Amino acid sequence: MQIQSKLPDVGVTIFTIMSKLANDHNAINLSQGFPDFDVHPDLLALVDKFMRSGHNQYAPMQGVQALRERIAEKVRDLYHADYDPESEITLTSGATEALFAAISAVVHRGDEVIILEPAFDSYVPVIKLNGGIPVYVEYKFPDYRIDWNDVRKVLSSKTRLIILNSPNNPTGAVFTDTDISELKTILQDTDVLILSDEVYEHIIFDGLRHESVSRHPELVERSFVISSFGKTYHTTGWKIGYCLAPVPLSKEFQRVHQFLTFASNTPIQYAYAQFMKNKDIYLNLSAFYQQKRDKFLSLIKNSRFKALPCRGTYFQMLDYSAISDESDVAFSKRLTIENGVASIPPSVFYHGQVDHKVLRFCFAKKDETLEKAAERLCKI
Ligand code: PMP
Ligand code: GLN
Repeated sequence: MQIQSKLPDVGVTIFTIMSKLANDHNAINLSQGFPDFDVHPDLLALVDKFMRSGHNQYAPMQGVQALRERIAEKVRDLYHADYDPESEITLTSGATEALFAAISAVVHRGDEVIILEPAFDSYVPVIKLNGGIPVYVEYKFPDYRIDWNDVRKVLSSKTRLIILNSPNNPTGAVFTDTDISELKTILQDTDVLILSDEVYEHIIFDGLRHESVSRHPELVERSFVISSFGKTYHTTGWKIGYCLAPVPLSKEFQRVHQFLTFASNTPIQYAYAQFMKNKDIYLNLSAFYQQKRDKFLSLIKNSRFKALPCRGTYFQMLDYSAISDESDVAFSKRLTIENGVASIPPSVFYHGQVDHKVLRFCFAKKDETLEKAAERLCKI
């Protein structure tokens, strides 16, 4: 059978490739972003409780009511935004599903979508599946700032959507209030929509404030705001995320979501709803990961890698230009096979494979994992 591919340029995702390489060579896996420590025992007990008490059938299409209410409360407390749990919050099977549903809901054939690169690898394939055209703007290396004039230049009458991601995977950069002001000015006389991927909203360092798009009523009316419980509760394998959007956008979002998955895992939604009542867990997450970042940085201080600033997420970018002039893809593979530490080459997050001789390392790991990895990195 000859099948004409709808995504002829898309291979297997780098996360699958690097995690497999790490397993095959018994390397320490700092590539794909997931924690290697345990889930909170109370959260596990809650999932068990809700499974055993019979919460095992379909959840409502929008998600479990109690969880939508808890999310609305959290967003009101933290960002002073009012989303109606009845009509403006949708639970999804991970942020990945929310991204797919939001893009599919609004991108028509021929529409342009602005992507800030390096960009998480799921955005562009979904745009292309919907017949959209990605238009790229690059973060400025090495501090990964956006020059908003670059965005202004690519804006056209065909621009339908801009995708934002702060704190940013893979760079660790975060938007400041100046970025948000620039964004407001640029978009004010347009009907461009925003998709704001905020899955690392609770992992932000050095006293910085998460500049959620939801803080700004002028932006809320045109925005999908997406987050994920996987990052916040060390449960990336449970795949529950959510989308906040005003009624007209949520309606279109749910039109897609209802036929993509219909609803997501029921007992886990009940468990999160109860667990979220303990606000300290998500409020203390930044401090927890800042310690991890600082531990990792101090362990590799005497290596030949040079750390770039990391202001949020659980990823640290390291410059290896003093060690090798190989491409980041070649060097990350050699590092995995010969030195036993797996990382992610960020060039895969650029459509033009821009290679700054840096690698992304995930520090969401036990101290002993970080110590072992650092020992290996220091020998290079
Ligand atoms: N967006 C970004 C920027 C991510 O890093 C991730 C992580 N995996 C996702 C979306 C997807 O989140 P989820 O695992 O909840 O689907
Ligand atoms: N978000 C994770 C990362 O950036 C992994 C996502 C995935 O495996 N699809 O590493």
